[in-house]
Amino acid sequence: MTRQEFSEEALEAWLQCERRAWLERHRPESRSTESGLERYLREQHADLGRAYRHQLIRTAGSTVTPSTGTGAAADTVRALRDGAAAVLDGTLTAEGVGGASAGMRLRARLDVLRRVREGWAVETIAAGTRVRPHHIRRLAFGRLVAEANGLPVRRSAVACVVRAPSPDGPRLRVQDVSAVTADALRRLPARIGAAGASLRAAREPRTAIGPHCHRPRTCPFLSRCWAPYDGHSIFEVPGLRSDTRRALRGAGWSDVRRVPRRAPGLEPAEHHALNDTRADRVRVDFGALHTGLAELSFPVAYLDMEFATPAVPWLPGTNPFQPLPFQFSVHLEDAEGGVHNLSFLHREAARDPRPALAGALAEALAGAGSIVVYDASAETLLLTELARAVPTAAATLRSAAERSWDLLALVRSAIRHPGFGTGWGLKRVAATLAPGSYENVELADGLAAQTAWRQLLRSEDAGLAARLRRYCEADSRALLRIVRVLRHWAAGGSGGPAGI
Ligand code: SF4
Repeated sequence: MTRQEFSEEALEAWLQCERRAWLERHRPESRSTESGLERYLREQHADLGRAYRHQLIRTAGSTVTPSTGTGAAADTVRALRDGAAAVLDGTLTAEGVGGASAGMRLRARLDVLRRVREGWAVETIAAGTRVRPHHIRRLAFGRLVAEANGLPVRRSAVACVVRAPSPDGPRLRVQDVSAVTADALRRLPARIGAAGASLRAAREPRTAIGPHCHRPRTCPFLSRCWAPYDGHSIFEVPGLRSDTRRALRGAGWSDVRRVPRRAPGLEPAEHHALNDTRADRVRVDFGALHTGLAELSFPVAYLDMEFATPAVPWLPGTNPFQPLPFQFSVHLEDAEGGVHNLSFLHREAARDPRPALAGALAEALAGAGSIVVYDASAETLLLTELARAVPTAAATLRSAAERSWDLLALVRSAIRHPGFGTGWGLKRVAATLAPGSYENVELADGLAAQTAWRQLLRSEDAGLAARLRRYCEADSRALLRIVRVLRHWAAGGSGGPAGI
């Protein structure tokens, strides 16, 4: 994209934050690498695009998919001129229209452009089951550029996934959103004009950090903007009301270390929370810790499972987004402190991963006492679904689900640690309580593991398999290491925190 081009992605960046839009244009090298979520959504979108193409071929006749490289816009125009009934993944450009200043070219990616009576329909494919505001904005942008190319747009629609199972594969429900898109189109010129002015600014805008940095998704410039706070921003202090955060930010006190000790309008608990963060103070409810740890029975199995949630089901009888486990790691700890690891990774593209995984997991857990998991509601659901799908392993897996013990619940109820920030994710808790747990682990999260696994099935790349194994094993080992730190604290070991 040349410097004068403006896309709907640039508009979305600007709507999140003026500073982000500016950074995307002027400092793209500061962007963090593509997150697991971004890659996951891109893959889901591509799968759904293919599914929708099949659906369209049945209803609209011929379809053409233009290239997405530098010639994408020319390919799209050629396909339209040649009389295509529908164009998928098309690109259109237009200069100086809809709020864009002279010399500014709008560039729209159109999931679907198809002929309808006396004109065209512009459609976008949602990687989910519901219409979201960004779908409407995307359609408005596409309609603006399509009409500037002389294509009368009669209809705007979103194709959403239908969650119910379908014998013919996924069904996409096409929802007409023409009226709301027309409303969004009226607001578009002012937005494009304002965003264009922000991008032309010579200096980076000084927008302060805030909740908008995580909405609608975590901003790719987070590490750049949040680094100066070094974990002491008011947005990382647990227990503050959102009104309080807003007021502190408005007063220019986004850094805890700058908030006056007698800052007005705070409740006593909020003052405590700020003081704890200033002093890096850890608080532990030892009663809850003792009670929770006493429930563990040896041999303790520390279990992590990875799963895929394909929008387009790969297996007959499964629904869109139904979790499909493909990997597990178990660290088994005996009463004398001995530990050994058992793991499984499914690698056969043509087979359902569940029977072999369920068999291996049932074997790994058969002699275990407590099964330590992180977030029992999610993990026990996986175990019971797996038991339902593989009757031969059902008894052992259901029994394992009943013996599951939730480390997340104990951490939430017994520990206040400034290092956790406002979340309870395993990676952050492990980094705080058991640093080094994810050393040499390349995959960032479960979504990254999910996309890596899909890639593995396509490529049989041994390096990818090793990365997946390291990732899953690090998760189950992190559970073990956290429990050991908590036991040490509960036993009054040196270096432990004070009680509440
Ligand atoms: S991290 Fe926050 S302040 Fe910085 S560019 Fe992103 S949204 Fe804006």
